[in-house]
Amino acid sequence: CKIRDILKDQTPQVSFEIFPPKTDAGYDSVLSAAEKIAALKPSFISVTYGAGGGTSKNTVSIASHIKDDFGVTSLAHLTCVSSTREEVHQVIDKLKEKNIDNILALRGDIPKDNAFPLPNQYRYACELIEDIKQQGDFCIGAACYPEGHVETEHKKDDISNLKTKVDCGVDFLTTQMFFDNNIFYNFLYRIREKGILVPVLPGIMPITNKKQLRRSMELSGTAVPQRFLAIIDRFGDDPEAMKQAGIAYATDQIIDLIANGINHIHVYSMNKPDVAAAIMNNLSAILKIED
Ligand code: FAD
Repeated sequence: CKIRDILKDQTPQVSFEIFPPKTDAGYDSVLSAAEKIAALKPSFISVTYGAGGGTSKNTVSIASHIKDDFGVTSLAHLTCVSSTREEVHQVIDKLKEKNIDNILALRGDIPKDNAFPLPNQYRYACELIEDIKQQGDFCIGAACYPEGHVETEHKKDDISNLKTKVDCGVDFLTTQMFFDNNIFYNFLYRIREKGILVPVLPGIMPITNKKQLRRSMELSGTAVPQRFLAIIDRFGDDPEAMKQAGIAYATDQIIDLIANGINHIHVYSMNKPDVAAAIMNNLSAILKIED
């Protein structure tokens, strides 16, 4: 099942994300989390790809279990910047073999210890997208950054690079997390104005502990609104209270998005079935609303 077809349905729907274990030892617990999240019947589950390609085997295998054993459409992430074209082509072959239809095509973060770009290797996600298109009939997603990608100084340039990427054959976009929906609405307006017309899934991350927020901010430079900082200040040192408040904040963001006509939301559920279940429970009546 291709995600571009799922996105045509205008009933509000939520998708979740799983990240594969770094070592084989954690495999069973991640698979069990994926099974519990699949039981919540999300529109799809995405499986991330470890920086440097270290988890490629597990990404393909977990995405395949989600689809074949747990009955939910899967989206396999694939990064290219730390791999040779040959290595990337091998992963695409495996995805084809397992009938995984959906790939989130990413550049990945530039490895610190490598000369970049390696001769004849990938430089930007758009080159990977062109390669995937040549290898088969995949539905291709890509990343976008409502607050701008960290490497690009001007948002305007980031949006014109995004237009180039989408024109290479992107079917849908997923955003980096944000904590203020106005940033997303503004971004959507700006990219539509520039002719980027594919569906855009907002990425919402429920922050359920103080440490997670610090890590997320370091990685992405996402702005944290005063309203959310007050939550961290008041509840950050009480794990149960922080978890409840973080889930409520994410739920609130999702409800606002759906109220404003955004019907497909991606939730960075971080291998936590209990958090995913709480969000689904909070939205149980809302996810039945028809346009
Ligand atoms: P690109 O689209 O190639 O953009 C990278 C930079 O280059 C940007 O600054 C852009 O403006 C610029 N650029 C792009 N094209 C051009 C061009 N033609 N000419 C000039 N400049 C250009 N990382 C992982 O390792 N594994 C994952 O599973 C993963 N999943 C992600 C999922 C989502 C939804 C998001 C938002 C990010 C994810 N990332 C993941 C992180 C991602 O790999 C990094 O943010 C990375 O730095 C950029 O990847 P990209 O695909 O957006 O790159």
